[in-house]
Amino acid sequence: MATIFTKIINGEIPSYKVAEDDNFYAFLDINPLAKGHTLVVPKKEVDYMFDLDDETLAGLHIFAKKIAKAIEKAVPCKRIGTTVIGLEVPHAHLHLIPIKGINDMNFEKPKLKFTDEEFKQILEDIKKHL
Ligand code: AMP
Repeated sequence: MATIFTKIINGEIPSYKVAEDDNFYAFLDINPLAKGHTLVVPKKEVDYMFDLDDETLAGLHIFAKKIAKAIEKAVPCKRIGTTVIGLEVPHAHLHLIPIKGINDMNFEKPKLKFTDEEFKQILEDIKKHL
């Protein structure tokens, strides 16, 4: 069965899309740890990051680089933290999180809530810098 991320990539489930190309797709995390928290996924459906072929693994990070630079310009932060967890959705993905300190990477913290308008505004702010 297709993962929720494949359904997002195929447009069957809506997402706040930041960017896509032939092989990769970036969208806002719906339960963000920070404003601008973005997920970057390969269109190829593979569960575990380290089972990706080398080209896809490298390409994912190269694609994420320009997204991270745009988020960095759109959201006040010290840098973009990256992490891979994948315990919830079995489709390899990279979390890009604007951080000011280590605690901003704590996934046990309560997630932020944004309205649809707020998500759209964040998206617009990031896309301006792409
Ligand atoms: P993990 O697999 O542990 O890295 O967590 C999956 C992440 O995907 C979580 O941060 C969720 O908030 C996020 N997520 C799950 N479903 C959606 C969705 N439909 N749109 C955006 N983000 C999602």
